[in-house]
Amino acid sequence: MSLSYRLICRESGENYSGQEPRWRSDSGGLLHLSLTPQLDIALLKTRKPTLWRYREVIPIEKDENIISFEEGFTPLLPLEIGGRKIYCKQDHLFPTGSFKDRGASVLISKVKELGIDRVVQDSSGNAGCAVAAYCARAGIRCDIFVPQSTSPAKVSQIRSYGAKLHLVPGSRQDTAEAAMKAAEKFYYASHCWNPFFHHGTKTIAYEICEQLEWQAPDAVILPVGNGSLLLGAYIGFQELHQMHLIQKIPKLIGVQTRACAPIANAYQKHQKEITPIKTKPTVAEGIAIAAPIRGREILAAVYETNGLMLTVSENQILAAQREMALRGFYLEATAAVAIAGVKKYLPMSETQDLLVTVFTGHGLKSK
Ligand SMILES: *Cc1c(COP(=O)(O)O)cnc(C)c1O
Repeated sequence: MSLSYRLICRESGENYSGQEPRWRSDSGGLLHLSLTPQLDIALLKTRKPTLWRYREVIPIEKDENIISFEEGFTPLLPLEIGGRKIYCKQDHLFPTGSFKDRGASVLISKVKELGIDRVVQDSSGNAGCAVAAYCARAGIRCDIFVPQSTSPAKVSQIRSYGAKLHLVPGSRQDTAEAAMKAAEKFYYASHCWNPFFHHGTKTIAYEICEQLEWQAPDAVILPVGNGSLLLGAYIGFQELHQMHLIQKIPKLIGVQTRACAPIANAYQKHQKEITPIKTKPTVAEGIAIAAPIRGREILAAVYETNGLMLTVSENQILAAQREMALRGFYLEATAAVAIAGVKKYLPMSETQDLLVTVFTGHGLKSK
């Protein structure tokens, strides 16, 4: 592989080789990957319809380390929503039932490449399912921490993959703290901290643009909790733009539930930093994140793309979920947040805008 990259802490400037098994900087800061993408799209024609078709921009050195179910290149289906044509990326069709497989495939490939045989991870459910499945495929041991309130189907899915499951009483934050403690001993395969995860989720931008014949959408509407999808999409669109494969970067429209909207709250006040909030109960368990650690970065991505942060009510989420099910799309409530967000966004958009949204998670494993 000719792709070279380093792990960078933007705050302190500290930087490390991409072959170091670390998930944060010595000063405790968040890490990013610096890399210069190169991709010859003429080569794509002969490749399998998986996210690994963008092999040249995925930061894994050796093909033999790739952990894959030949996932990705999910259908981009045009649907009429609110009287407009919306392209819906069907990421609920991934092997474990959510887009988190994008990140897990790349992250666990990296874990294998680093020669690590045991990881820890925490999640509200779906990221745990994804990491557990890819670890099973790789033969890597994993400890997954989830809140005790997680949907029984997700808990059972994580267990079935052979992961060691830790049900943590209290809030999502309590779960994160328990996992961080375990991460003192084992590598932290976190979808929030670990930048390799974002270099997996970025493939959604590559797929969307290829499926639109290298046209960038005007706006992409996404549910946001920890921002692993939004930040990945932002990295992907930036790389595509940098390589002149698209002419512009879409507006990123993030959607949160009113019951837990730390990023939308900060956006409304034009702040650069989030203030952690107290969450209320929500049907959107996948995005009930009161203090997203990359909050500042998510806000920056939204501001820089001239995007927006929107909130939707619990009733709007449930109505969107019901409407999609009656049309044959069985989504979990967290995924319906994006559809409710589309409806809210439509009056703010131009009628000719090319709009894309994502079905982030399958209904079969929700409550
Ligand atoms: C994780 C998840 C989200 C939100 O992703 P973040 O990375 O936390 O922003 C949305 N929908 C579903 C179904 C999820 O599992």
